[in-house]
Amino acid sequence: MNPSSLFASLGLPASSPTNGDLTVNSPIDGSLLAKLESTPLREVSTLVERAHAAFLTWRRVPAPRRGELIRLLGEELRIQKSTLGELVTRECGKIREEGLGEVQEMIDICDYAVGLSRMIGGHTFPSERPDHVMHENWYPLGVVGVISAFNFPVAVWAWNFAIAIVCGNSVVWKPSEKTPLTALACQEIFTRACAKFGEAPDGLSQVALGRADVGKALVDHPRVALVSATGSVPMGRAVGEAVARRMGRCLLELGGNNAVIVTPSVDLEVALPSIVFGAVGTAGQRCTTTRRLFVHTSLREELLTRLCKIFADLHARIGNPMDAQTLIGPLIDKDAFDRMQNALAGARAQGGRVHGGERVLADKYPEAHYVTPALVEISADAPILREETFAPILYMVAYEHLEDALALNNDVPQGLSSAIFTTDLREAELFRQSSDCGIANVNIGTSGAEIGGAFGGEKETGGGRESGSDSWKQYMRRQTATTYYGRQPPSLAQGIRFS
Ligand code: NAD
Repeated sequence: MNPSSLFASLGLPASSPTNGDLTVNSPIDGSLLAKLESTPLREVSTLVERAHAAFLTWRRVPAPRRGELIRLLGEELRIQKSTLGELVTRECGKIREEGLGEVQEMIDICDYAVGLSRMIGGHTFPSERPDHVMHENWYPLGVVGVISAFNFPVAVWAWNFAIAIVCGNSVVWKPSEKTPLTALACQEIFTRACAKFGEAPDGLSQVALGRADVGKALVDHPRVALVSATGSVPMGRAVGEAVARRMGRCLLELGGNNAVIVTPSVDLEVALPSIVFGAVGTAGQRCTTTRRLFVHTSLREELLTRLCKIFADLHARIGNPMDAQTLIGPLIDKDAFDRMQNALAGARAQGGRVHGGERVLADKYPEAHYVTPALVEISADAPILREETFAPILYMVAYEHLEDALALNNDVPQGLSSAIFTTDLREAELFRQSSDCGIANVNIGTSGAEIGGAFGGEKETGGGRESGSDSWKQYMRRQTATTYYGRQPPSLAQGIRFS
């Protein structure tokens, strides 16, 4: 579809340049997609107040009815899967298959949230006092502020939004300044769902466009009960500190530095496709991208040879992410390319041997940045191993004893995803118990999570959990309510007498 038809079908303004301060260039070829106005800072407060007013109405709507609105959102997303997926590809550069996968993830979380809307529940606890009953109740928080990164421009919003809404909250979303169009498209799709629903309060979902200053205005607003922020560690640190100062709540989903361990018992036919997708999928721009590979010394030569061959073969599959045969699209922008080259220079300076990592297709796309994936042989003590560079760089380190590989897996500031490839039950269990990450996979790569489990990581990854399991509890407040239904004066806990 040409951009104008695509924009029209998603209800977006025509793609012609206007005078907005927010320039959106496609990473595919650098072409201008749109110029949009950032939300003025003073307007952020208005959006939050409007969302708060919507919350006061919405929290009274029965949760299963709130689920009906999210069911309708899921239906609209099914209708728009192809168009929204294409816009994701055009705006953030991931291949068509992954753009569609991202929208599928939105649909999946809507389905999950619909079920959840009939299952939100608390415990009843036995009271130590006669004729007393103790309940745990869950109530919505209020306004949820969502700040998202460029690399999952729509799924991260949906993870937060679908669950926050069925829990009875309203949402103000500050998307990445690099992907505002997909955010506007989501808002339009939600508006269509609201029209079918018929009774959603105005202001239930708001979008504030702009850079970090707009995000800061949202973070500092005292009415924003929960800030759910996805992005880099420095961003999360700033957000976490600001929200803590006003005693608000934070859900942080930050950078990863994910490792795969390959043990001597590995089935390489299982391991290789997962390692390759983990390292080069989304051009290395996933928080769960495999960045470190710990290989037993007995397999080092074989794995190096095979990975170098696969990476070389992939050169023919680098290109326009709209083409069906492309497996590796562009980096998001020149800054990302520069950071990759700096990391590779740093790796060389630290004794690393770099295979690949060069710019390609510069003649065809002078305003875009395509690279070959890099495989770097390096020693375990190289400081660069501790950094997340958001690009397709896979550091390979040989180990002798499994305990050393387990220790190396944890020896980074981040703690998102980890994996082991083994056919030895003992090694698998030791790995699961030892990994300090939020995700620990066996014979599955680090990248590509399902929505049913809780998603997130430890240490500098921020500690937040989104999506499935009991992540919904983060969007609600917990209340313990004790009721006395006897006829005598009530007794005090711990047997205290006060008469
Ligand atoms: P980024 O930190 O540059 O920006 C993320 C968002 O934060 C943007 O919307 C940005 O405008 C906003 N922001 C930046 N500074 C802010 C501040 N001080 N206050 C409020 N808002 C602020 O990240 P990015 O380059 O868009 O994304 C890449 C990073 O995101 C990587 O580190 C990646 O690992 C991480 N990420 C993590 C997850 C996860 O679930 N753990 C998912 C996707 C991406």
